Amino acid sequence: MQFNELGLAEPIMKALASKNYVTPTPIQQKAIPVLLEGRDLCGIAQTGTGKTAAFALPSLDYFARNAKPTPIKGCRMLVLAPTRELAAQIAQSFRDYGRFLKLSVETVFGGVPIGKQIRALSAGVDIVVATPGRLLDLIDQRAFTIKDTEIFVLDEADQMMDMGFIHPLKRVAKMLPQDRQNLFFSATMPKEIEALAAQFLNDPVKVSVAPQSTTAERVRQQATFVNQAEKQALLHIVLKNEDIDRALIFTRTKHGADRVVRFLEGAGIDAFAIHGNKSQGQRTTALQAFRQGKVKLLVATDIAARGIDVSGVSHVINFEIPNVPEQYVHRIGRTARAGAEGVAISFVADDERPYLKAIERATRVKLEIEPLPENFMEAVRNLPKPAAPKKGPSQTPQQQARRADGQRRYQDGQKQQRGAPDRAHRTDAEGGEKKPFRGRCRGRGGVGTHKGAVQRTGAPR
Ligand code: AMP
Repeated sequence: MQFNELGLAEPIMKALASKNYVTPTPIQQKAIPVLLEGRDLCGIAQTGTGKTAAFALPSLDYFARNAKPTPIKGCRMLVLAPTRELAAQIAQSFRDYGRFLKLSVETVFGGVPIGKQIRALSAGVDIVVATPGRLLDLIDQRAFTIKDTEIFVLDEADQMMDMGFIHPLKRVAKMLPQDRQNLFFSATMPKEIEALAAQFLNDPVKVSVAPQSTTAERVRQQATFVNQAEKQALLHIVLKNEDIDRALIFTRTKHGADRVVRFLEGAGIDAFAIHGNKSQGQRTTALQAFRQGKVKLLVATDIAARGIDVSGVSHVINFEIPNVPEQYVHRIGRTARAGAEGVAISFVADDERPYLKAIERATRVKLEIEPLPENFMEAVRNLPKPAAPKKGPSQTPQQQARRADGQRRYQDGQKQQRGAPDRAHRTDAEGGEKKPFRGRCRGRGGVGTHKGAVQRTGAPR
């Protein structure tokens, strides 16, 4: 089957030709015809299968044939994605495929000034691609409404659940109009995702494409056992010895990612990090530099990297291996895209051996065990010093404001305690209350339930 057999509108065909797309991918072949009929769809497909075009093309076709003014402070199509990066990538796909149509596309996510988004949405937009938290913030501020949505897409539903977006999604479901087309995509479909899908979908057509297991076959998967404290030395050697075009280095935590970048900086090796503590500007700059080949190494956490489509990644290095086997599959799926070969190297510390076992069981692949390189001990002895941690720039202005505010309150609390009779008790209570709150707000990217939290900190959103 070819694209010209699907009956897509002329401006869309022109855009596809300019991207040299001739043959629809399996998910596109299955999904596009039923979506053109206006049916709801439940798709089991991973990133890399072409699912963005599978939902973007028929939606654009609908808009090409059903021109209408945009609803004030509203949209005609709403796409929800779990991360800012994925939202930006989806919006870009809509702009690319819709470049010969006069349609407006806006992104809505946290980490960027809300005022600019409010202005961009005020006259109404055709297509909004959003993360749930900021979308609900805008709705709560009465700056936006989704009551006119004609097409609704929920992408990467399993990732949304993992990130704790269940309540925001239930709120969104209640605010959507009855009469609409729904598309629901998830890489996996356990019971709780099926229950979520049922809240959105109306008699859906179910399509499923094989997970990218073929990817795994094209990836050389290696593991080396190494002490956690000596992983930096091993990374140094691997980066020297391997023929790397572009490598993604994964850590489990944000701090772990920063530590790796500081070590690489100390060793005079350029690398960027992307994770939830980075400002949106920093994340975009890092990703662009990596895409354009200006920097060969990108250090990432799982959530920040999920769904990112960068071609030409020759190596995935698991500096820390994930404790969930599916994450491993997602990680190594970043390499060996579009028929290319790739290498995945995992550094396994003693306490990570059970994770390795779980990965091997789940993927039914035995990783090749590579011994430590010959010059390893020498590398450990001569390990370059990490660069000093940078203050300030790794935080967004909002985070800096929150931190300053927290410090001021803490100091105020300390002053009060000095005159208070039950000093020890109050120190614990005051110090302990603020920390979990700050973490939650950052980690979720501003989930809409934080209205009270905003008032408490007075931080701008
Ligand atoms: P996705 O799964 O939507 O992230 O798409 C994965 C990659 O495949 C993206 O880089 C798309 O631009 C590309 N792509 C999607 N559909 C096609 C197609 N029919 N032919 C060639 N490339 C495609």
